[in-house]
Amino acid sequence: MQRYSAFAVAREALRNHTGWTRAWASRAPRSKYDVIIVGAGGHGLATAYYLGKTFGITNVAVLEKGWLGGGNTGRNTTIIRSNYLQDPSAAIYEKSRSLYEDLSQDLNYNLMFSPRGVIMLAQTHHEVRGYQRTAHANALQGVQTEFIGPERVKELVPIIDVNGPRYPVLGGLWQARGGTARHDAVAWGYARACSDMGMDIIQQCEVTGVSTEGGQVTGVTTTKGDIGCDKLGLVVAGHSGALAAMAGFRLPIESVALQALVSEPIKPCMDVVVMANTVHGYMSQSDKGEMVIGGGTDGFNNYTQRGSFHHIEETVRALVETFPIISRLKMLRQWGGIVDMTGDRSPIISKTPVGGVFVNCGWGTGGFKAIPGSGWAAAEMIARGEPGPLAEAFSMNRFREGRFIDESVAAGVAH
Ligand SMILES: Cc1cc2nc3c(=O)[nH]c(=O)nc-3n(C[C@H](O)[C@H](O)[C@H](O)COP(=O)(O)OP(=O)(O)OC[C@H]3O[C@@H](n4cnc5c(N)ncnc54)[C@H](O)[C@@H]3O)c2cc1C
Repeated sequence: MQRYSAFAVAREALRNHTGWTRAWASRAPRSKYDVIIVGAGGHGLATAYYLGKTFGITNVAVLEKGWLGGGNTGRNTTIIRSNYLQDPSAAIYEKSRSLYEDLSQDLNYNLMFSPRGVIMLAQTHHEVRGYQRTAHANALQGVQTEFIGPERVKELVPIIDVNGPRYPVLGGLWQARGGTARHDAVAWGYARACSDMGMDIIQQCEVTGVSTEGGQVTGVTTTKGDIGCDKLGLVVAGHSGALAAMAGFRLPIESVALQALVSEPIKPCMDVVVMANTVHGYMSQSDKGEMVIGGGTDGFNNYTQRGSFHHIEETVRALVETFPIISRLKMLRQWGGIVDMTGDRSPIISKTPVGGVFVNCGWGTGGFKAIPGSGWAAAEMIARGEPGPLAEAFSMNRFREGRFIDESVAAGVAH
């Protein structure tokens, strides 16, 4: 693999950028692999990467029906944090956040990780109590967060109106090492590293069926022909239910559109990420200057990767209360992605009723931050055939057994 470095950039600048090679190979599928991962989003690619890096399993294909990173991974608002309430969640999200810290070096790919800090505003007394509880839980879990008062919020975010008419800011849960990263770079960085290990990333290859024999997976049917495998990982976010149906089982997942929008670029005015869950909106400023704004999910199940007008109105109206400065900003783009929601708002990393078939899904509205940790945990499960310590609580059986990991406060509406 060609190494990227400041020296390489300078060298290529001098020779008109003629020396760059393709970041990943585009190959035709082979007839059989040890492992097939369906879905070349961040989670699928990270799963493949850690299969190779940690377990030496490189006879792997990642099959993608569209283009790599074109699902939720390339559509999200890139918030990274790990201040979840329950122990299993804090463990996997903090593992993920800590992997992000030096992932650019690990992948030799600039992910633009920016640990600029994330505040979750408390705008009701209920939220104050909830976030204080989370801060205490995080202290026990080794996740660095603190509950801060309105003066400190104002110091960190000068453009905020802490004395808003309906919902004044009463404080916030502050994670100083939370932040953002460039979403498609995460997918591209993992893809490049997987390709370098000899794995095949096959785009425009939709999986249309799962073949089994005696309850054990034998391969998949795709738009590029049948491909055999010993193990199959389904990592397809909002399409998890559809893929599970092909394999012959059901998942407790609902697919809904989640929307976001960005404004015209403006001068730097906010260098942290702010989430306002009561009024329901969140905002950060991209390096280009655009205000990146996220709203809620559609109130009905669907597979439409599009934005809608009522969301712009709802989300912007909510944020203008807290950030009056944005009232005259023009919005440039709006889009949607299909997220996979579970009842307890926690993911599923699990074996399934079909031998050799594993699922990694249910990351809902907040899985971008989890990509490295999820890939790590899912790779361990696929390689060993059993979930390891990070994944075992997230089995799909928890819904039958009543062992919910309730993160509806930490993850229900936000990211
Ligand atoms: C608007 C929006 C904002 C968000 N904001 C945040 C945020 O700020 N922070 C955060 O942590 N998370 C956020 N998320 C959630 C996050 O984006 C997702 O949880 C995460 O990207 C899921 O990654 P994935 O790899 O599982 O799924 P995806 O990136 O969706 O990848 C799944 C892939 O599977 C492919 N696929 C589906 N069916 C098939 C098939 N039959 N055959 C082959 N391939 C198939 C799809 O084409 C897709 O590329 C947001 C999501 C959205 C939509």
